[in-house]
Amino acid sequence: MNIAEERIDRLHALAREAASDRDHERAREYVRLARRVAERNRCGLPKAFRRFTCDDCDAYLRPGVNARVRTRAGGHVVVRCDCGATKRYPY
Ligand SMILES: [Zn+2]
Repeated sequence: MNIAEERIDRLHALAREAASDRDHERAREYVRLARRVAERNRCGLPKAFRRFTCDDCDAYLRPGVNARVRTRAGGHVVVRCDCGATKRYPY
């Protein structure tokens, strides 16, 4: 893991903690920071990070806290953020 990836990893953990504390503004700041680090270093974001962040409002999604997760027929999962944005991915 290079330094940028380590930073993203750390920011991901911080965002998750902040979201658990329901401090969503702080979580958003960590999500935005991690996105900026990835952009500057062109290293991309880990899959788990992309899955648990909202592309519309930068929230860190915690199912049952600020996101609803549903499994749909056809083999995909739909995650709906409290802001109304949804994302889907196969499982
Ligand atoms: Zn959202």
